[in-house]
Amino acid sequence: MTSHIHQRIRHTVVFRTLDVLRVERLTPHMQRIVFGGAELRGFISSAPDDHVKLFFPNSVGEIVPPVLGPNGPTFPPDREYSPMRDYTPRRHDDGLHELTVDFVLHGDGPAATWAAQATPGQRIGAGGPRGSSLVADDFDTYVLVGDETALPAIGRWLEEMPEGTHVEVLLEIPDAEDRQALRSRAHVNIHWLERNGTAADQSDLLEQALRALHTPIGDTFYWIASESRRTRNMRQWLSEERGVPKDWMKAKGYWKANADDSDED
Ligand SMILES: Cc1cc2nc3c(=O)[nH]c(=O)nc-3n(C[C@H](O)[C@H](O)[C@H](O)COP(=O)(O)OP(=O)(O)OC[C@H]3O[C@@H](n4cnc5c(N)ncnc54)[C@H](O)[C@@H]3O)c2cc1C
Repeated sequence: MTSHIHQRIRHTVVFRTLDVLRVERLTPHMQRIVFGGAELRGFISSAPDDHVKLFFPNSVGEIVPPVLGPNGPTFPPDREYSPMRDYTPRRHDDGLHELTVDFVLHGDGPAATWAAQATPGQRIGAGGPRGSSLVADDFDTYVLVGDETALPAIGRWLEEMPEGTHVEVLLEIPDAEDRQALRSRAHVNIHWLERNGTAADQSDLLEQALRALHTPIGDTFYWIASESRRTRNMRQWLSEERGVPKDWMKAKGYWKANADDSDED
């Protein structure tokens, strides 16, 4: 009998300074950056959809992350604090003290702009992961749905999945050149969906592909990460039209097209 028990692990929050070691343009819209440094000692990331908060240089080039105090993290007064954004630990090598992060080059924004110009020797700040949620590994099928910001988490998950797992992947990317070779021991069916010029928040390729996907056999876990409104709509559709139980899906807005969108996915 299958039980489908998810696990939540808490980690002690640590703020670190990371050095850029290597930069590689994986595809036209994805910059891979490998960070290193002694401060990566003790770094833990237990789940493929973990995230770290990255702190980018402020307008005067300083990294000003929060300081941990008795009331939690607070930013130092009288200093312009660093813009912070969430990113997936794509790969972590504990022995080499290296952390790989894949940045979508979507245009303007402190994170994307910084990633586009990154060169070895530069530094940024990182906090977390604060926790990891481990999805039960006893579902018959996993359906992973995401745009390019979810590609690092999906790529890592596929690499970590055990042999014999069945996975359907719906991945929306800007263009055919943004496809990546994703390795896995699992039985994986990848559906690449290319926007070819349509804006990421205007596209509905993921929604169409999700509706067209035959209902997988057996107990199925759905994971969705994309623009906030789109994620919310797909989650609602799965719940209302497909009757997917709440515990059998995880849906998260990875970015907001509309800054006023206050929904917490
Ligand atoms: C848990 C989690 C994990 C994530 N992991 C990754 C990851 O590994 N790699 C990754 O690249 N991103 C990842 N993201 C998404 C990333 O945090 C956002 O895209 C973030 O907004 C980028 O910050 P920015 O400073 O570049 O742009 P912002 O300053 O946040 O936004 C500037 C403008 O760009 C728009 N915008 C932001 N992101 C995108 C986008 N992807 N496509 C088109 N327009 C966009 C905004 O709507 C806004 O108009 C993750 C998000 C979460 C919540």
